Amino acid sequence: MATLAHVGRVAGTVDAVVVGAGHSGLAMSRALPAHGVEHVVLERGEIANSWRHERWDSLRLLTPNWQSRLPGYRYRGNDPDGFMSMPEVIQFVTDYASSIGAPVRTGTTVTAVRQNGDGYRVVTDRGERRCRAVVMASGAHGIPRVPALAAALPVSVRSMTPKEYKNPGQLDDAGVLIVGASATGLQLADELQASGRAVTLAVGEHIRMPRVYRGRDVQWWLYVAGILDQRFDAVEDLVRARRVPSPQLIGTPGRVTLDLNSLRDRGVNLVGRLVGMNGGQAQFSGTLRNECAMADLKLGRMLDSFDVLAERSAVGEMLGSPERYAATRLDDSPRLGLDLANHRIGTVIWATGFRPDYSWLQVDAFDGKGRLRHHGGIVAPGLYVLGLNFMRRRKSSFIHGAEDDVHDLGEHLVAKLKKSPGRAPPRAQEMRAGI
Ligand SMILES: Cc1cc2nc3c(=O)[nH]c(=O)nc-3n(C[C@H](O)[C@H](O)[C@H](O)COP(=O)(O)OP(=O)(O)OC[C@H]3O[C@@H](n4cnc5c(N)ncnc54)[C@H](O)[C@@H]3O)c2cc1C
Repeated sequence: MATLAHVGRVAGTVDAVVVGAGHSGLAMSRALPAHGVEHVVLERGEIANSWRHERWDSLRLLTPNWQSRLPGYRYRGNDPDGFMSMPEVIQFVTDYASSIGAPVRTGTTVTAVRQNGDGYRVVTDRGERRCRAVVMASGAHGIPRVPALAAALPVSVRSMTPKEYKNPGQLDDAGVLIVGASATGLQLADELQASGRAVTLAVGEHIRMPRVYRGRDVQWWLYVAGILDQRFDAVEDLVRARRVPSPQLIGTPGRVTLDLNSLRDRGVNLVGRLVGMNGGQAQFSGTLRNECAMADLKLGRMLDSFDVLAERSAVGEMLGSPERYAATRLDDSPRLGLDLANHRIGTVIWATGFRPDYSWLQVDAFDGKGRLRHHGGIVAPGLYVLGLNFMRRRKSSFIHGAEDDVHDLGEHLVAKLKKSPGRAPPRAQEMRAGI
């Protein structure tokens, strides 16, 4: 079925509006018609816009192909253990939109969502829609987090976020300071060091993981251990769980492990967390050794739990032998300061995470720190969010996390609209209904 991806005025009333045509919005779009919910998906750019425009060129998913699945759809290629490149992810999401006939309005930016009686008014740059439910699937990575101390960078040093970074060719030949050592920071450090630039990596709290353990991808282990399915209402400290950094992983055809030891062996200079910027001097915390010891310890505990799982499992005998990895190696006295000019640092890249952009949401839904308040994705009856970190489950922000979350939130939405599966009109009829 063809996707309705066209422009024109947006007007009238509809049961539900989905904001964003990434995989989350599309997954919700697939769920709604079965319950007779007439809806439209409003997308400011193109389908899979974030993957098209907000990632770097060499990026591949860090989740293997077998894990890339959406409701009613999965990877069907001949390399289940491989990792999709960006063009492949864009194709995957675009094909999904086509296969479900999602009613997407591309080139339509939502500029405001306001309460309107029992429902909502959705204002866009192409007109307005009234609806009874809104699903905010606008992404978890809208705004790169850049620490306030970035303002103290000397003007001669270029400040860059991972959204702006595409490839090494954008940078001059000078050294690079990368702040943050989770998946993004490690991958960019690897690429830039390989390009011949001197890279310094500022390392704070991080999660160390091997790509493959006992012959199986670490994502397989996380999956069978039930870690990815952990629910938001079953963890002790949800605020902390939602802040856990992404694991140090990279997806490559060779399924290599990328960690601080491999980067150090390639010449990357490891320093502690960036804590100050003063007169062109970067200052680093003295906690590097502790941060690395903690990551090594947690890695060991995780592998212990995998080994216990293997012993109890029927497939245990088919797995390779248990392994343990060398502790993170550091200089005897890691550097606590770096004069950016003396060390020819030309660029600082802030691999310090992202936050969602809800600047257009004009309802009382934010806490004192400006964070969206929600209970497992339910912001208010009829107002939902998708794709956030550990939103309902640990896997919520991943492609394969959409399936369960959409199921749960879709049910809530349908109950709020008092729709029932029995009332479902045929899909084609809905698509004619003013979309
Ligand atoms: C660097 C990086 C690597 C990642 N790697 C993986 C991985 O390996 N595996 C994995 O499963 N996940 C990965 N993720 C996480 C996640 O799958 C992606 O972030 C994914 O793009 C999220 O999908 P989404 O549909 O929730 O949001 P998005 O894909 O960001 O889609 C949101 C859509 O909303 C649109 N939008 C935003 N605001 C508005 C507005 N006001 N009006 C209209 N439209 C709007 C955007 O244009 C966009 O198309 C990665 C994320 C990042 C940042």
